[in-house]
Amino acid sequence: MQRFDNAKAAALALRPDDPVYCFRPEVLKADARQFMGMFPGKTAYAVKTNGEQLVLKTLVEAGVTAFDVASPGEFAAVRAVSPDAEMLYMHPVKAQSDIRLALEKYGIRIIAIDHEDEITKLSRIVQALDIDPGTITVFVRIQTKGQAAYELSKKFGAGPANAVELGHRLHRHGYKVGLCFHVGSQIEDPDVYERALASADWVRNRLGFDIAGLDVGGGFPAEYGEDPRRKKREMPSLGQIMSRLRGDLREYGFDEVPLVAEPGRVIVARAFSLIVRVLLRKGRRLYINDGIWASLSDSWTGKITLPARFIADPAIRSRNGLEQNIVPFKVCGATCDSVDILSRPFWLPETIDTGDWIEIGHIGAYSLSLRTRFNGFYPDTFVEVTTPFEEGEAPQGLASLETMAD
Ligand SMILES: *Cc1c(COP(=O)(O)O)cnc(C)c1O
Repeated sequence: MQRFDNAKAAALALRPDDPVYCFRPEVLKADARQFMGMFPGKTAYAVKTNGEQLVLKTLVEAGVTAFDVASPGEFAAVRAVSPDAEMLYMHPVKAQSDIRLALEKYGIRIIAIDHEDEITKLSRIVQALDIDPGTITVFVRIQTKGQAAYELSKKFGAGPANAVELGHRLHRHGYKVGLCFHVGSQIEDPDVYERALASADWVRNRLGFDIAGLDVGGGFPAEYGEDPRRKKREMPSLGQIMSRLRGDLREYGFDEVPLVAEPGRVIVARAFSLIVRVLLRKGRRLYINDGIWASLSDSWTGKITLPARFIADPAIRSRNGLEQNIVPFKVCGATCDSVDILSRPFWLPETIDTGDWIEIGHIGAYSLSLRTRFNGFYPDTFVEVTTPFEEGEAPQGLASLETMAD
């Protein structure tokens, strides 16, 4: 992989017409180690956030030994980078053939459920393979209420009373029993974790046996851009959220229980930026070579503000407007689909023009993993970059939260 100091150097050297992902392995390692240093238990990286081989490999190098996986594709991706990484199969609803594959081929012994029929499926395979249930830890996923950029508890999780029943049933079958929840993504209110811990505590107190573990899921917030035109939102740092969580874990007496977290976004967001090219400027519209069907669907659905940096093409001799004037542009994606328009403007220097590039920062989570081949466009070019995004020139622009009239 080609290596550059920063994205500007890459853009000017390669003059790319296709989107280019700028990977920062040292940032990824630092963010993974920071999380592991703060969380008082096992860190299992959530592979769905970004399952690129170079990411998984770098995480193994950083000391990550456990991965949260949900599908045969993810089992294989983890195995490909590490023969002995531990996998936690935390998808509550699984195909029977996938459960078999997990237990038989990949040796997975940690699994999540939220319904009795999942226990039936699991037990069928466990019997067929003649595995001692006592070697398997089954986490009962508890429903939680929260507010996150993405609310995931609507889809999965057993109500507390039902979770108690499931726990008893698993215990009778001879499994080790843990409790887990996942409160959503990009959590900005530590009370969300506390409410989930209160539910877990309620369930645990009715089980009548010691639980084998508590998995607090993911949802830890990454830092994104800030729109300087808006009142600064008070957002707790990861350190603040973690110290609250550690305090709450102690308060509910979970500090004696083996703990697991499944961070995704907070570990990988800063590790990538994306260079896109302006294919056409039409007034206050920019047509770029990426969009909601490629790398930008998360910022589109998640209402996230990404920092952006203008990279001027030196070949453009004359420019209209003033470099210092930062103005909003409506951004249209690469495909012919009329919904492929970002819901929020990019704020960029007024002089930006056809042929220039834009570096979009903090794009490592849920961007590469969500890209599609729709319309024949599939960004897949990578370079390595050594300088962290924030350490370069100040970003002049951003993809803001404000909506824009047509
Ligand atoms: C998606 C997911 C995660 C990771 O969530 P982040 O918000 O990226 O930290 C963790 N656990 C489960 C069960 C998930 O579905």
